[in-house]
Amino acid sequence: MSAAPFVEVAIPVPLRRLFTYRVPDDLVLEPGDRVAVPFHRRKVAGFVVGHRDEPPEGVTRVLKVAGKLEANPVFPEELLSFLERAASYYFAPIGEVLRAAAPAMPKGAMKRLREGGFLEEGEELAGRAVGRKLELFATRTDAEVPAKLGARQQRVLDAIAGETALTVLRTVEPSARGVLRTLAKRGLVTLEEREIEDALFAEAVAPDAPPTPTEPQRHAIEALTGALDGGGAFLLHGVTGSGKTEVYLRLIAEARERGKGALVLVPEIALTPQLVSRFRARFGDDLAVLHSALKDRERDIAWRRLRRGEVSLAVGARSALFAPVPDLGVVIVDEEHDASFKQEEGFRYHARDMALLRAHRAGAVAVLGSATPSLESFENARRGRLSLLTLPERATQRSLPPVEIVDLRRQPRSPSGEALLSGTLHQAIQRCLDEEDQGILFLNRRGFAPSVRCTACGKQVECPACSVALTEHRRTRRLRCHYCDFQRPLPERCDTCGAAALEPMGLGTEQLEDRLAEVFAPAKVARLDRDVANGRTVEEVLGRLRRREVDLLVGTQMVTKGHDIPGVTLVGVILADHSLAFPDFRASERTFQLLAQVAGRAGRGEREGRVFFQTFNPDAVPIQAAARHDYEAFFRAESAARREHLYPPHGHLIAVRVDDPDERRATESIGRLATIARRVATERVEILGPSPAPIGRLRTRYRFRFMLRSDDRRALRQVGAAVAHAIDEGVANPSRASVDVDPVSML
Ligand code: ADP
Ligand code: ZN
Repeated sequence: MSAAPFVEVAIPVPLRRLFTYRVPDDLVLEPGDRVAVPFHRRKVAGFVVGHRDEPPEGVTRVLKVAGKLEANPVFPEELLSFLERAASYYFAPIGEVLRAAAPAMPKGAMKRLREGGFLEEGEELAGRAVGRKLELFATRTDAEVPAKLGARQQRVLDAIAGETALTVLRTVEPSARGVLRTLAKRGLVTLEEREIEDALFAEAVAPDAPPTPTEPQRHAIEALTGALDGGGAFLLHGVTGSGKTEVYLRLIAEARERGKGALVLVPEIALTPQLVSRFRARFGDDLAVLHSALKDRERDIAWRRLRRGEVSLAVGARSALFAPVPDLGVVIVDEEHDASFKQEEGFRYHARDMALLRAHRAGAVAVLGSATPSLESFENARRGRLSLLTLPERATQRSLPPVEIVDLRRQPRSPSGEALLSGTLHQAIQRCLDEEDQGILFLNRRGFAPSVRCTACGKQVECPACSVALTEHRRTRRLRCHYCDFQRPLPERCDTCGAAALEPMGLGTEQLEDRLAEVFAPAKVARLDRDVANGRTVEEVLGRLRRREVDLLVGTQMVTKGHDIPGVTLVGVILADHSLAFPDFRASERTFQLLAQVAGRAGRGEREGRVFFQTFNPDAVPIQAAARHDYEAFFRAESAARREHLYPPHGHLIAVRVDDPDERRATESIGRLATIARRVATERVEILGPSPAPIGRLRTRYRFRFMLRSDDRRALRQVGAAVAHAIDEGVANPSRASVDVDPVSML
């Protein structure tokens, strides 16, 4: 350990720099330690990043570290150095990055410090009463199993894989406790009773038997496990249902055999108990699940179990990227194309890109998996930066369902009178119901109607805080803003002209649910979108679908992801054009991904599926390509289109944004930053804007931005760095101006 007299501390302020402090004589500090330091007459918590022998030049008065807040470093070395690298890649203030990545500070830590001590290891949770309970664990011995064994004993013995909890064994044999006692007496198992942290998983999951891999799966598994020693980065391109998850499970199993840890990132929406169960069925309950709905305390438990090395597998959404997985050997990003991997506030990072970086630095195997890879990833595979592994067919015997494009411009009046329910789709739904199959109808608009308009004066009702229309939610009789969550009761009269002439405009999922229930009565219709669902309810609705208590499921994006429901033979996309109309160079890509994913929900069981895309743009490339399940055709067309404008993957972007409640201040700030950008930019770097963002006002703040674009990453970064520096120097308010490297949201 270094005995250097000074340390560099990262403090959570929006400044891209570290602060130097003197180490008191009686304190030993390590990188990753959480410390309290004096900062502007207050004490704040920060992290030690490194040591130094001298204070920085010109600094004469150096304050002392007030004390250590936790006994052991919060960040292991691998994670800390990765985070420093990530912060510099994104021009992000390191203090804010570390704060975003760290678990919450133990309660009372500051107070304890004042009283003269820091927390001892294991004490972090004191006073926060983590529920404790005892669990019995069984492990098989090497003793030979007698030829004749009672059926119950055999059943329990068969279900023991590694160390298996009694709650798990009870799922195969209710009297497992007694049976275990007998097995222990015969020397066939050893038993151990231990305290476990309560409520990690509410229900037990029985262990599964891994299926025999298909030929393409076997090839992928071999390539991946072959890289476990030296590391490597892969793109696993497998159509929906091709068994990508099975490939991940095999790779992780092999890594565990070799004593290595694994990290699996999935989109928040896909992190359902069903997916987690597949991991538990294979590896038991020794895994940490991390998602945004966790309470601080739960996140803490998960983090510390990983940190202590008690658990070496973490499954989670975006921010699980920062999980302190010990001896990292595998990093998986499932549905790598998903936009939710991009963090759009505070520390803006892309978890997929950073997963590659973290794996590379740790010498781990990185796997990006998708049925519809992002253009960036597929291009990286073409250039050999990722090794491409392909699963061209479904793992089960079912082939991908045929898709019919329904041209909404040429449809005779529909039987229901509903413009967005064509005759073709109407008949398909009727047939599906007649055959007692199930259907999913996808509409990417929640609420009853996307907007409400006054038919007397033509004004639509807008959010007072944002420049967007309010959505009508009829169940709750309210208008709501889908961007800031503002709500108001449904007004009787128009705010502008006072006429009692407000009409809902357009179709949302609530209304579609009502219409389908009327038109196809007595079919049972359910809905799945963010209004009905949060975590538990998603599973609840899908459970009803799986048990066939629901005939038709209406939903937004939530219905497109990863679900495997055998009874679903029909998928109808009500309007394939919604996502095409977005002012975003990725609009085509999003559309293709959504359509391909939702089409993949049909026909996963015994019976063949059918898919319908309703559209006013039947010739659009993403619609045509998704209908033919032809990823490569889509890639070729879209890649060519992007090349022309140097959009990623052929060029790189940095967005500079200012949001300010004062419109004039916002335009002035963005103008000053753009001037600096123009001054330092070489001719290789284009500056687009500044201009108002498509959503010009959000949460009462006016939004302006400009975009830097270049095919020369280094030249581009020079301009980004100059702008970031200018913000630090006060050219714009650091808490209102941001630099977004590799931006995703164009709104
Ligand atoms: P993906 O992740 O590519 O969508 P999954 O791993 O969910 O695919 O697999 C789709 C279905 O196929 C699942 O029900 C899974 O259990 C099954 N499956 C996967 N691999 C095999 C295999 N080798 N043999 C039989 N069934 C398989
Ligand atoms: Zn709003």
